[in-house]
Amino acid sequence: MKIRFAGAAQTVTGSRNLLSFRNKTILIDAGLFQGPKDSRLLNWNPDFTPKKIDAIILSHAHIDHSGLIPKLYKEGFRGPIYCSKSTFDLCSIMLVDSAHLQEEDAKYANVSGYSHHSPALPLYTIEDAKESLELFYTIPQNEWKDLFDGLSIRLTRSGHILGSSFVEISFVENDVTQKITYSGDLGNGRSQIIKPPTHIEETDYLVLESTYGDRLQPRVDPKIPLAEVINKVFNRQGILVIPSFTVGRTQDILHLIQTLKSEQAIPNVSVYVDSPMANAANKIFLKHFEEHQIVMDKNDHLIAPITLTDFTAITNMEDSKKLVSKTTPSIIITASGMLTGGRVMHHLKERLPNPKNAVLFVGYQALNTKGRLLQEGLKKIRIHHQEIPVEAEIITMEGLSAHADYQDTLEWLTHLKKVPKMIFINHGEKVAAESLKKRIEEKFNFPCTIPRYMEEFKLNM
Ligand SMILES: [Zn+2]
Repeated sequence: MKIRFAGAAQTVTGSRNLLSFRNKTILIDAGLFQGPKDSRLLNWNPDFTPKKIDAIILSHAHIDHSGLIPKLYKEGFRGPIYCSKSTFDLCSIMLVDSAHLQEEDAKYANVSGYSHHSPALPLYTIEDAKESLELFYTIPQNEWKDLFDGLSIRLTRSGHILGSSFVEISFVENDVTQKITYSGDLGNGRSQIIKPPTHIEETDYLVLESTYGDRLQPRVDPKIPLAEVINKVFNRQGILVIPSFTVGRTQDILHLIQTLKSEQAIPNVSVYVDSPMANAANKIFLKHFEEHQIVMDKNDHLIAPITLTDFTAITNMEDSKKLVSKTTPSIIITASGMLTGGRVMHHLKERLPNPKNAVLFVGYQALNTKGRLLQEGLKKIRIHHQEIPVEAEIITMEGLSAHADYQDTLEWLTHLKKVPKMIFINHGEKVAAESLKKRIEEKFNFPCTIPRYMEEFKLNM
């Protein structure tokens, strides 16, 4: 058995791990690179041949783990793609949405003439995405499935987002059975909706994510700062815009607002979700009750984490435009968490010039995005070729990340009952990965390494 790190090596996007076993090649996660241009080129030319992949296993639906699938399909991949049921449900909206964005980008490049290629082409089309969905096979979590002679896999809950799983691979070589576990993205057990990660007690090899390998997140209940923000903006009759990632974060925010309202900690303010994707994701969340934390009311009735009737779902453009001109106090949750485009830009153009309003960031804002510029206190921002003055209050709330920080990761590792032969630390910037490596070595003395891009390891150490 060999493992090659064809992505997410010393970076946080483009998760792709190639396993070679006997004459088979298995790809664990097929993610898009979302960083700088030179890494995004690896979306066009991944360093492996899609046709030669025999199967793909997906840990979860986020695009940096699944978004390459339609491209691989386009290049001739026709093998099975295994994942959990809810990962498939989420992929069926997210891959099509990703294709839509690719098509929009290509269209924009052709109109503005910024592409070197003429005409600019999308990485893949909506049709490619829809056709690739035909290759998906869902498997129940916690059950072993034989994939090839001498190799079986099992998915277990990783507590990061709906459907997210650890991928365990058991393989027999020279009559010895060994196991490699791929963490995908590790949850932190603080989600108020999704159940916490399961524990892995034994594995020979571990591929471990390290997104927050050098950071600690606040342990305060996010309801408290959220109530403060909502009450402050509502008292001055303002509008609160929350740009949010559609899968995971939006449901967390809706759940928190619903709880605050039921506790009468905030007024009964109108809430709008202006994103077709977020509204589709909300419905998928409610379909998979088995993955939710069970919460009962005082009459012993189950409380759904979000109630669709508690807010207004905006799907068509006309209603979205009406919402932009609304003047009464309200909360608008809208897609594009880092302000990279879409409907949120119309809301910002309208709301930023008024000091009564506020923009609340609830997720990571990458370098050079408009989100980061606002966080850094920029006084004017360019939206749709116009200079927009920033008078609204800009607020950032931490503690809603769906990733484990180093303390969570170390705690999760304490459940390992046997020393692993090697921990491969990936899915983290170099500083974060190195910091996590040092902590693991200090605390457990486990052997760790930080693979470089395309580095290959033979698993018979
Ligand atoms: Zn993720």
